Amino acid sequence: LTMSMESVISDDEKRLMLWQAHHDNLTKLPNANLLHERLARALIANQQENKHGALISIDLDHFQNVNDSVGHASADRVLTDAAYRIAMCARETDTVARMGGDLFFVVLHEIEEVAEAERMARAAVQAFEAPFVVEDREIFISASAGVVIFPEDGHEQGELLQKADAARMGAKNRGGNQIAFFEEQMNSVAARRLELETHLRRAVANNEFELYYQPVIDVSDDSVYGAEALLRWHSSELGFVSPGEFIPVAEETGLIVEIGEWVVTQVQNQLRDWAQRNLEPIRVSLNVSATQFRSAENAEALLALLARSGCELITIELTESALIDDTPGSEIFIEGLPKLGLHVALDDFGTGFSSVGYLRDFEFDVLKIDKSFIDSICEVRDHGLVASIVAMGRILGMRVIAEGVEDKAQLQQLRQIGCDYVQGFYFSKPLPLADFEAYLERLNTRQVAG
Ligand code: C2E
Ligand code: CA
Ligand code: CA
Repeated sequence: LTMSMESVISDDEKRLMLWQAHHDNLTKLPNANLLHERLARALIANQQENKHGALISIDLDHFQNVNDSVGHASADRVLTDAAYRIAMCARETDTVARMGGDLFFVVLHEIEEVAEAERMARAAVQAFEAPFVVEDREIFISASAGVVIFPEDGHEQGELLQKADAARMGAKNRGGNQIAFFEEQMNSVAARRLELETHLRRAVANNEFELYYQPVIDVSDDSVYGAEALLRWHSSELGFVSPGEFIPVAEETGLIVEIGEWVVTQVQNQLRDWAQRNLEPIRVSLNVSATQFRSAENAEALLALLARSGCELITIELTESALIDDTPGSEIFIEGLPKLGLHVALDDFGTGFSSVGYLRDFEFDVLKIDKSFIDSICEVRDHGLVASIVAMGRILGMRVIAEGVEDKAQLQQLRQIGCDYVQGFYFSKPLPLADFEAYLERLNTRQVAG
């Protein structure tokens, strides 16, 4: 049987099959198999001849966003173009391979000096300066590159590939669109990120999330106006991980979509529970990241989820950066939100760069002044800024909440300015549900007594 099979396959076909086993279908570049072969060969040859080489790991920054927003076919065209741009930077003797997705590797089989590898990596990143044309639209995509030198950074393939990836992640953590050489401490940063991602994938199913509630206080009578729901993660493996650390990972990996659905459901259930127990109604605000409504599909799903139960007491907090992204989903989401009858807050106000423009295009119900202004509110200049923001909010019919109020002096300044709502450690840290309910209880008793 084997004989007859072989006889029907021509030499051309055999060559084609061999070629296909070593090349990537989409970009026609060498694939992972061929990369491994070439890298192994380079390592042996260099060792024998006492020469140096380099390995560069390159990927596109936020490619997932591109994928979500332009569709599969266009994303493939971007990848093909990206492959071409990277290949154009390489020398005849280098190997440029695609590992899959938007990840590429370049082997510089032989280098005389480290600067050669640096030049190649920089050229590859610079090759992304020109926009990509997708469906007659120009989109800007940057890339990041991580460089290792062998044998200095390692003698082994696996080690070199991993270190080049870690270096690339280092470049990305510094904002992307740049190159980085491997440094020892990058291993721990990359390892931590991978660890977070791995455990985050199971966190919803394992029930590891909890919502804390931070009271928002009405300054006029110290009553609770509402609360902000803040996510807490108690990982069974990693222990407590702060939102500042895991939210960015959840956003980059898209896991925030599933986590965000959990948050919405949780808040809805909580409001229903309070209503059934006849507690004084309070508003609950929740944070929504741009990633949660980047694609049209996700935007619609999130709107539908919100619409499932009463929205009168819910406030959605969006940051300016969530509005800046012009994606297929953002328009759907931003237009759909007001129709649900909930409130929308502009979070971290003052930290972006064109905040006032958004106030013209979209009617926010609430403005949350960022903590950084409150920190220095006792200084004349920032006092003036906060006073102007509060006045502007008033004129535009918005409620203004000062965030991160930590001491009495700040509160007094805010009172004097006429800011009606504050949130911060001075009144209370974010509290687990039971403690938050106890806080409400205490306040009510005090008011009844007083
Ligand atoms: P944020 O929306 O600006 O939330 C306010 C943050 O300030 C919270 O940090 C809160 O604990 C902290 N904070 C409040 N008052 C004070 C104060 O007086 N002093 C100081 N130093 N800090 C104060 P947290 O809970 O660590 O959350 C960090 C960020 O993580 C949030 O910033 C938000 O952007 C994000 N986040 C939290 N929960 C969620 C969620 O459910 N979904 C999404 N997408 N993001 C979330
Ligand atoms: Ca917030
Ligand atoms: Ca905030």
